[in-house]
Amino acid sequence: MQIRQITVGNAVFGGPRVVLIAGPCSVENEDMAMRTAEAVAAGGAGVLRGGSWKPRTSPYSFQGLGQEALRILRRAGDEFGLPVVTEVMSPEQIEVAREYVDMLQVGARNMHNFILLSEIGRSGMPVLLKRGFMATVEEWLLAAEYILKEGNEQVVLCERGIRTFENWTRATLDVSSIPLARDSIGLPVVVDPCHAAGRRDLILPLSMAGLGAGADGVMVEVHPDPDKALSDGGQSLSLEEFALFAASVTQAGESPCRFQERIRR
Ligand code: PEP
Ligand code: MN
Repeated sequence: MQIRQITVGNAVFGGPRVVLIAGPCSVENEDMAMRTAEAVAAGGAGVLRGGSWKPRTSPYSFQGLGQEALRILRRAGDEFGLPVVTEVMSPEQIEVAREYVDMLQVGARNMHNFILLSEIGRSGMPVLLKRGFMATVEEWLLAAEYILKEGNEQVVLCERGIRTFENWTRATLDVSSIPLARDSIGLPVVVDPCHAAGRRDLILPLSMAGLGAGADGVMVEVHPDPDKALSDGGQSLSLEEFALFAASVTQAGESPCRFQERIRR
């Protein structure tokens, strides 16, 4: 199946090269966003990520800086020449975010928010659609159809792990979903090892597994001081670690599994 190419800034998802999306879980302030953007740009990232509104399990945890985060993210992206992506949780947030970002993210918890999906479809903006952690591959692809149905074909899928009985990791990365989803719907798929593992020591092996399965890109969380991060520090790479990580992941340059397209089914 031919994979649709989705262009966001200079990054092309579904093309011959692996796209790295990197940045903090949450935008916490201008200084950390700028330092992170500089480091991820230097490492070859194609897209800068950063949470503005955070879907936290506890209402007492840091909820994100909202529009202030969007302003900072835009400035950081512009300063270092990167397009930016942020998560939206409601149709109202799309209206605000579209003034600042190049791509919208639908998080795992909102994959079933059909009103949000349809509205993103109507926005016509590129979207990173994460798999819900209780969703089957079929349910994930039907969520993508809600966006496609409105005439928006700029959908990139993101496998971020599903809930299983395993509790040494935050979720379980479902590697098989990558070729399954990619080849049945013809959209690029990105692997997110950070939310799958919940721990930074598994980021590289899970990224390699995802790329081996044919992923078109990798999304990782990066923070200048992970131990002090306001969200997801334990699964974030430091700036120095990101440099090493990016060098390993992009060494091959070309996505390793392009022969997949020539396999008969
Ligand atoms: C995130 O990307 O920071 C995030 C909240 O991811 P997920 O929706 O996959 O949990
Ligand atoms: Mn996170």
